[in-house]
Amino acid sequence: MEQGIIKKNDVKIIISALRKNYIVYGPVKRNEGVIFTELTPDKEIIFDYHNSKLSPKSLFFPQCEVIGTFDDKTLHEVTPSKNEFVVFGMRPCDARSLQLMDMVFDSVDIKDPYYLQKRENAIIVTVACNDPQDTCFCTSFGGSPTEKEGSDIIVFDMGDSLLFEVCTNKGKLCLEKFSNIFRKAEKADLIKRNQQKTIAEKKVPVMNYTGLEERLSRNIDLPVWESIAQRCLSCGVCTFLCPTCHCFALFDEGIGSEGMRMKVWDSCQYPSFTLEASGHNPHGLNSERMKQRIMHKYNYFVQNFGETACVGCGRCVSYCPVNIDIREIMSNIVLYENKDS
Ligand code: SF4
Ligand code: SF4
Repeated sequence: MEQGIIKKNDVKIIISALRKNYIVYGPVKRNEGVIFTELTPDKEIIFDYHNSKLSPKSLFFPQCEVIGTFDDKTLHEVTPSKNEFVVFGMRPCDARSLQLMDMVFDSVDIKDPYYLQKRENAIIVTVACNDPQDTCFCTSFGGSPTEKEGSDIIVFDMGDSLLFEVCTNKGKLCLEKFSNIFRKAEKADLIKRNQQKTIAEKKVPVMNYTGLEERLSRNIDLPVWESIAQRCLSCGVCTFLCPTCHCFALFDEGIGSEGMRMKVWDSCQYPSFTLEASGHNPHGLNSERMKQRIMHKYNYFVQNFGETACVGCGRCVSYCPVNIDIREIMSNIVLYENKDS
């Protein structure tokens, strides 16, 4: 089955059947906002949300992950979990961000077994966006509200029904088990899906960041770092919520000679991020750290992997406590050269 339609209420049947073989995660409403959590009979998946506050990257790259234990003689590696899981309801920008994370954690030189095992264990069921927010800019960096890249299955919310489309063989094998509850998608369904796609894509603000990588290479010391960074609190929210930020530190924690080795998220926006043992800090100023974050996303990552490390999810725009807007920074970079030409 490549495509199929079910009544929206029947998604419960699929989720409950999936739970027999997989841990199923999905977006649920909490007081602090929408978060991805394990779906249990008392936690219902929601469809009427823009995006989760925390990106689902933590299901693959947890904020804190124990990778070893030690005693006074030996470090014992923790074996990566083989638990298979389904992430149901991820947005297309977040599914795409996993492919960017793959470039880091599954590179020629470095393979992170913890991340890779989770990628292998997971089935990604994306739900396309019908109503992008004004902070979204996925189309400026190769994505779209209905992008399939990174998904095993994509679902279109058609009001009372859901249209499922298979994107990979893994998705096909998963959906085949439920072929009896789907009806075939008719021409009218596909026309409706296409109309929804067009409407959603038109809602995403169009930005022009042409030549951003080259412009950054030519003008690494821009006035914008100083002016914008004056407001920055170095809180790290922008990096922690970002689905593509992947910096981490290794910590040992224990009592006496026994303890645990952990992989813990770090942030280039923290003053201690590049603090050296000598006391020297190459990124001691806010402006230097802001420059590092922008250069990494839109210049260094492009040079290393041929892609921008931003999927335009808009989280850093929505949740920065002092309203620093990454789109404003990029526009400033583009305008910096244009004003002289
Ligand atoms: S969220 Fe805003 S204030 Fe906090 S580190 Fe990022 S840019 Fe600075
Ligand atoms: S930099 Fe901002 S807009 Fe881009 S992926 Fe990260 S959080 Fe989303």
